[in-house]
Amino acid sequence: ERHRDHLEDLVAERSAELLAANEQLEQEIAERIAAQSQLQLADIVYRNTVEGVFVTDSKGTILTVNPAFTTITGYTLDEVLGQNPRILKSHHQPREFYEAMWASLNTHGEWHGEIWNRRKSGAAYLQYLTITVNPGRDGTPLNYVAVFTDITELHEKEERIRHQAYHDALTGLPNRLLFQDRLKQSLLLAERGHRQLAVMFLDLDRFKVINDTFGHHIGDELLKSVSGRLAKILRQSDTVSRFGGDEFVLLISDTDTPDHIANVASKIIEQFATPAIIEGHELVVSPSIGISLFPDHGSDGVTLMKNADAAMYSAKESGRNNFKFYTAEMNAQAPYHLAIEGRMRKALDNLAFELHYQPRVSLDNGAVVGAEALLRWNDPEQGAIPPSDFIPIAEESGLIIPLGEWALATACRQARAWRAAGHLLRLSVNLSPHQFHHVLLVDRVAQLLEESGLPGDALELELTESMLMQEAEQTIETLHRLKAIGVSIAIDDFGTGYSSLGYLKRFPIDTLKVDKSFIRDIGSGGNEDAIIETIIALGISLDIEVVAEGVENRQQLEFLQLHHCDTIQGYYFSKALPPGEMTRLLEEGRSLQLTAPESA
Ligand code: C2E
Ligand code: CA
Ligand code: CA
Repeated sequence: ERHRDHLEDLVAERSAELLAANEQLEQEIAERIAAQSQLQLADIVYRNTVEGVFVTDSKGTILTVNPAFTTITGYTLDEVLGQNPRILKSHHQPREFYEAMWASLNTHGEWHGEIWNRRKSGAAYLQYLTITVNPGRDGTPLNYVAVFTDITELHEKEERIRHQAYHDALTGLPNRLLFQDRLKQSLLLAERGHRQLAVMFLDLDRFKVINDTFGHHIGDELLKSVSGRLAKILRQSDTVSRFGGDEFVLLISDTDTPDHIANVASKIIEQFATPAIIEGHELVVSPSIGISLFPDHGSDGVTLMKNADAAMYSAKESGRNNFKFYTAEMNAQAPYHLAIEGRMRKALDNLAFELHYQPRVSLDNGAVVGAEALLRWNDPEQGAIPPSDFIPIAEESGLIIPLGEWALATACRQARAWRAAGHLLRLSVNLSPHQFHHVLLVDRVAQLLEESGLPGDALELELTESMLMQEAEQTIETLHRLKAIGVSIAIDDFGTGYSSLGYLKRFPIDTLKVDKSFIRDIGSGGNEDAIIETIIALGISLDIEVVAEGVENRQQLEFLQLHHCDTIQGYYFSKALPPGEMTRLLEEGRSLQLTAPESA
């Protein structure tokens, strides 16, 4: 009996043991399966990620690479196995760069940053690289794991935008910004070395006539040929820039004598005597040149430019096709500017200015969602004077304050009238730098809104990038105060200025207006398409409306539709209209006919 009991106990004990052992085994298996699938998962990620990965041992010998590594570098696993990553080096980075990298790896166990390396084909490429140390039991490195992304294209895009910001799109010459930069640098050097330098303003006589007669296309080609000629005459160390229109500005540094400068100016005039042949037309333009010298005619850039400009007008006055050095009397006369200024004052008194309105239409549904107010001036003697002629002078003379004020008030009044008639569009008004930096701007805008009973969001103010870059503190405050009263902020001519994309995040911006120079060149095979795409993508990611201005044809429209641009403005839909015509357009409910874009 007892014996049997004991046996049963033994069996029970044994089976309990077995059960426990079994359970443990099951758990171990489950864990191993889990670990296995973790590994598999890691392996799948490793094989399929777009990032290149390579792993080395502690001595830097490559143990393995993933397929993306091969795609990016061109090297297969077999080719790099057992090699040192040195074979990837581009020699673009100095030795100190690698010293800092190793210092970081040794102290933090990690390094990341941008680095130029070389593909198997020999082409250099930029990568964003992260290296992590895999430490062994004793803490010394066992492996190095490097993960990298090819950012060459991104980098090129950024470079293009940066280049665009400092160069004239048509001629590729430095623009005003870059010129001013170089002038500043050269002045510092000249001052230190007690050297002279010269600023030359060059304006083409009769260019406007050629442009009007043969068309913009020929005009553009002529400007390109002029820029080529100028570049040929000057030395590498000098700067030829284009400020827009037919205005070229030259910086000649390190000149020994005014004679040397006079020689250069004569050579330029000689060069222009030979006609340019453009598409079969023999075109002759002559230059009028104004020159100011450092230190004789000014000690700072602004004065030198102003005086060279005055000298150029004087050269024009005295029969064109010649050059003049600045003299003190010239500023006293400032003939052209003063004449326009005087007439502008009169025009303000006589209410001879008008606002025209250019509709902005949505690419979602073709509806008119806004309009830009554009100043028009009909002078009784001169006829229509374009804003590009009188706004800069108004800005310079301070007249822009009453003029801009008039434009704002008129636009608000018009917006109220349209609202009363049931047209809920937003009016955009251009602000010039002087206006924007005026201490009373925000108060005045608030007052105008109140007087006209308009909600803030019925008004949008257009600023340029350069305005945002100055006096940053005050700029931010002004923008926030404008936002506080509900007014929208647009960046006009986007892409042509500083394009420091950082400020888009810092400032409360509602709208980007892509400059018409980019739109004009859509489909021409240049960088413009990529730039526009980038700007639109930027707008989408920052939740900023993107408007394309200067849309003139179907091809441009379809490109913009395809890339999900929000709104457009341009002759394709309508030019700027006098108030009566704009009212009619609204009443008729005219909208943009949209069809699905043909995919590219
Ligand atoms: P903006 O602000 O870039 O204005 C757009 C200009 O492009 C306008 O020239 C407009 O008529 C023109 N435009 C519109 N659609 C097309 C198109 O499809 N193709 C082409 N080629 N051009 C198109 P506008 O009226 O001569 O104005 C020139 C500039 O004068 C404006 O450039 C703006 O900077 C300034 N401006 C105009 N009104 C005011 C104003 O009230 N205040 C201030 N401060 N500036 C103003
Ligand atoms: Ca504008
Ligand atoms: Ca613009």
